[in-house]
Amino acid sequence: MTVKTRFAPSPTGMLHIGGARTALFSWLYARHFGGEFMLRIEDTDKERSTDEATQVILDGMKWLGLDWDGEPVYQGARQALHIAAVNKLLDEGKAYKCYCSREALDVMRDKQKLAGQKPMYDGRCRERTDAPEDEPFVIRFKSPREGETWVRDMVLGDVCFLNEELDDLIIMRSDGTPTYNLAVVIDDADMGITHVVRGSDHLNNTPRQIQLYEALGLPVPKFAHIPLIHGADGAKMSKRHGSVAITEYREQGYLPSAVTNYLARLSWSHGDDEVFSVEQLVELFDLNAVGKSASRFDQAKLDWLNTHWMKASKSSDLVSEVERLLAVDIQAHQPPLLGVIECLQERSKNLLDLAAGARFFYEKPQSYQEKAVKKNIKEGTKVLLDAFLAKAELEAWSGEAAHQWIADICEAEGVGMGKLAQPIRIFLAGVPVSPPIDVTLDLLGKDEALARIHEGIEKLKL
Ligand code: GLU
Repeated sequence: MTVKTRFAPSPTGMLHIGGARTALFSWLYARHFGGEFMLRIEDTDKERSTDEATQVILDGMKWLGLDWDGEPVYQGARQALHIAAVNKLLDEGKAYKCYCSREALDVMRDKQKLAGQKPMYDGRCRERTDAPEDEPFVIRFKSPREGETWVRDMVLGDVCFLNEELDDLIIMRSDGTPTYNLAVVIDDADMGITHVVRGSDHLNNTPRQIQLYEALGLPVPKFAHIPLIHGADGAKMSKRHGSVAITEYREQGYLPSAVTNYLARLSWSHGDDEVFSVEQLVELFDLNAVGKSASRFDQAKLDWLNTHWMKASKSSDLVSEVERLLAVDIQAHQPPLLGVIECLQERSKNLLDLAAGARFFYEKPQSYQEKAVKKNIKEGTKVLLDAFLAKAELEAWSGEAAHQWIADICEAEGVGMGKLAQPIRIFLAGVPVSPPIDVTLDLLGKDEALARIHEGIEKLKL
């Protein structure tokens, strides 16, 4: 059997950490077994679905590298198929029209509650034979009244549901639109999904879906319900806990490799290992190593993994994203971005940090950090700078040579190297931090470096 999984988000809210982790597990399972992974946008709730949310799903998945096979499937375009299934169930007497008004249903539930019973539809329209004209109706599935329905879950184990506790599910609303449980069954069957991997918040839907598969004579897929992610305080994830649109992590400079590594470790483990590349995840992942309990979102761990992957990534893999975040028009005579990334990536927490550190290579500082000027630019600074400029006029330029001049000048003056290197840094970058001075000068080039030093001397009237 070829494994075929899917991710089936509703574009009614943003794709956040929880949804992305579900997508990742579903994707990993398919890729591990050399199977297929499908994306189905469940956009049947026209009022709450937005194009923006759909875009975040597509962008977020592409960014994380969760590629899907074929084109995304839009559930809203498949209604005819869902309606046909409803009609089939009606024709076979496995579904029925229910004319109960909202008020009648409310009265029924209130009575049940008063009697200490679980409120549920009592099936009063099941055997109804009249068909009142012009009365609105929904269509309900005639679910079995007796027996049990077992969910043999690959993560949660065997879960038993008593059929008497499952009331007759609405499969078509009074406006003629099919409901989630019906549409999901038809689509998963039609798309040939073998493994339904989704959040454990859907577990209660699963016995109903199994009953529908059986009533329609469709093969029941395997199910894997992934435990939820909670905030660090154990409460349900919210914005405050980092549950923002997944694309927001991209804007904050996180690496997709760090995010997938982090998400994979939520409820899944492989020994005591923490660091996994995507290739390793594909090789090692299996649903049987997913734990049953909810995990907690841990920002510090995500940051730690991001720092790790900043160091471990190939510099060339970072170029396009840093370019996007920098948003400057790099000229041919300016330092190559790859070289700049190479000298910054070890010391950067994330790509935003890296881009901030790279900016001065492409834009001269608009001002100099006041605190740094006060601390580093003093009476004797001008003499040192002049000596440096004189050397640069006379001798052949290279970062290494310039580094040596700084060392020689400072030694001759009996001061530490920082007395000259720091003022130079401030004039080049605006702040007293930059990659090593020789590398910085090398990348920036003689003309630009000297021009900035001259400008600094002038601006500060040294
Ligand atoms: N559209 C559902 C959701 O976003 C999908 C549930 C499922 O995977 O079956 O929760």
